[in-house]
Amino acid sequence: MRAAVYHGPRNVAIENVPDPKIEDASDLIVATKVASMCGSDLYLFNGEVADMVSPGHTTLGHEICGEVVEVGSAVNRFAVGDRVTFPYSVSCGRCESCRAGQTAHCITTGKAIYGFGTAFGDLGGSQAEYVRVPFADDHLEKVPDSIVDELVPFLSCNLPAAAIAVTAAAIQPTETVAVVGCGPTGLLALELARQQTHADVFAFDPVAYRRERADALGATALDANPGAIEESVQTVLDATNGLGVHKVIEFAGRGSGFDLAVTVARPGATLSGGGVYLERDHPVSLFDMYFKNLQLRLNGFANAKTAQWQAIDLMERNAIDPTSVVTHRIALEDFPAAAVQFAEREPGFLKMLIRG
Ligand SMILES: [Zn+2]
Ligand SMILES: [Zn+2]
Repeated sequence: MRAAVYHGPRNVAIENVPDPKIEDASDLIVATKVASMCGSDLYLFNGEVADMVSPGHTTLGHEICGEVVEVGSAVNRFAVGDRVTFPYSVSCGRCESCRAGQTAHCITTGKAIYGFGTAFGDLGGSQAEYVRVPFADDHLEKVPDSIVDELVPFLSCNLPAAAIAVTAAAIQPTETVAVVGCGPTGLLALELARQQTHADVFAFDPVAYRRERADALGATALDANPGAIEESVQTVLDATNGLGVHKVIEFAGRGSGFDLAVTVARPGATLSGGGVYLERDHPVSLFDMYFKNLQLRLNGFANAKTAQWQAIDLMERNAIDPTSVVTHRIALEDFPAAAVQFAEREPGFLKMLIRG
């Protein structure tokens, strides 16, 4: 099959690799109809976590609309032809973590994640023609007919992650909100947050194009670039009696974004962190968090499985249309170049959908 194989920082190539095979009776194989690239993939793609990937071997991608093409003998819930999606992480549904709703921490699968390198189960990714799905009955999901193919990859990661973060923020109708990081998932979270409150919603991002999107969603968009950040923070303080916002939703997934989230939070605020933090050495100020009595809720290693039902519900009720963040529709052959555009945050680039 054809797959996007990682070779080094910002270097993937479409190559012929062996087709995935059923290795266990509980496996099945899906053909990729639509895949995508997540912001979290950039840690791997950029070579920032080199110890997690294997050049010449690792394939990326954990977002998918797929069609079942082969089932193992122990698979009961799925048949060839079913249209399906998986949450980005593989969960068994039965271990102590899964039963507690911590599906991303599944003990049985060892926190396996599709296309996330050797550190997370060394599974093939969705930026390929076929993907092997282990523990299929326990975490794969059939997709209702009312949800079109292009929406389905958002069920794997972005929309559940946004829903989890907004739910954790528990926004009340008159509470002010700041969303830090307006990439695709941040914008989805912003749209959901906007539905929760009548008060001001602020949105921080360093990229002008993303701020325009946030502005169109009814937020006060603020520049997060180093040269502008002071004035942006002051705008929030001026609008909130000098206190800061009630709820902060962090989707930058970077230490600097987390620091900004702490800065704009008022005393007693909830900081709901949905970003992926892989900067192991970033210092945070316990003093700042202590002195504001912050309620810290980190959900970036999201239990996407537990919020897929919510994401499906949001789509079926037309509460949100995630294709609003899709800016590029490409073929797998065009992925290597598009991934570089995505990594460089080219103007006008938010989310790509990849047709197999
Ligand atoms: Zn993701
Ligand atoms: Zn488990």
